[in-house]
Amino acid sequence: MRQQPGVLIVEDEPAIAELIAVNLRHNGFRPIWAMDSTSAQCELDAVLPDVILLDWMLPGESGLTLAKRWRSNPRTKAVPIIMLTARGDEIDRVAGLDAGADDYIAKPFSTKELLARVRAVLRRRAPEQVGGTVAIAGLSLDASTYRVTFMDQMLKLGPTEFKLLHYFMNHAERVHSRSQLLDKVWGDHVFIEERTVDVHVKRLREALGATAGQMIETVRGAGYRLTAHVTPVTRPQVNA
Ligand code: CA
Repeated sequence: MRQQPGVLIVEDEPAIAELIAVNLRHNGFRPIWAMDSTSAQCELDAVLPDVILLDWMLPGESGLTLAKRWRSNPRTKAVPIIMLTARGDEIDRVAGLDAGADDYIAKPFSTKELLARVRAVLRRRAPEQVGGTVAIAGLSLDASTYRVTFMDQMLKLGPTEFKLLHYFMNHAERVHSRSQLLDKVWGDHVFIEERTVDVHVKRLREALGATAGQMIETVRGAGYRLTAHVTPVTRPQVNA
């Protein structure tokens, strides 16, 4: 099953929240609704979404205050924020963007426009979540159809292994520490141990099979990398 991007909707008007949620769900997103700043904070403390749709006028703390706080918090600062508001004039637009919002939509908006903007911020922030095919040394991954093949043979991967491979393939030849992988692949590692990465790398290698599995290298003391240049087991020392 493909991982659906989570969208936290912070909106106090149930009719608007419902309209947005229905449209997001129909378009492959996983909406979560919070009707005020307190419940929004609770949702964020539990699991980080991929995008936040944040209403400006909320009971209690305003959307602007929340955007500033989430931007200054290391845990939440990378989550894209789209501000929703009835205020359309330019000063407010600037204030919203200054507070750290990635984009801004004035109410009333079309759901088509909203979806386009959600996809756009996801593309900017996390290109590996959006689709397209990446191919390295016989290994090919198509993110839009969720297919992985090696030498044209279809491989079966679990959702986490798929995300992990997707990240490795988009950042090939680079070494990633366990903590970086938790950040980039799991998105949020507050409650996840680094050992978890080892477990999923092992599963990924098994799913890739004996040959392609060797492309996922363990770099001692550093982490993991995907390489097209598989190191032979006994390599003569050149330029040592
Ligand atoms: Ca409101």
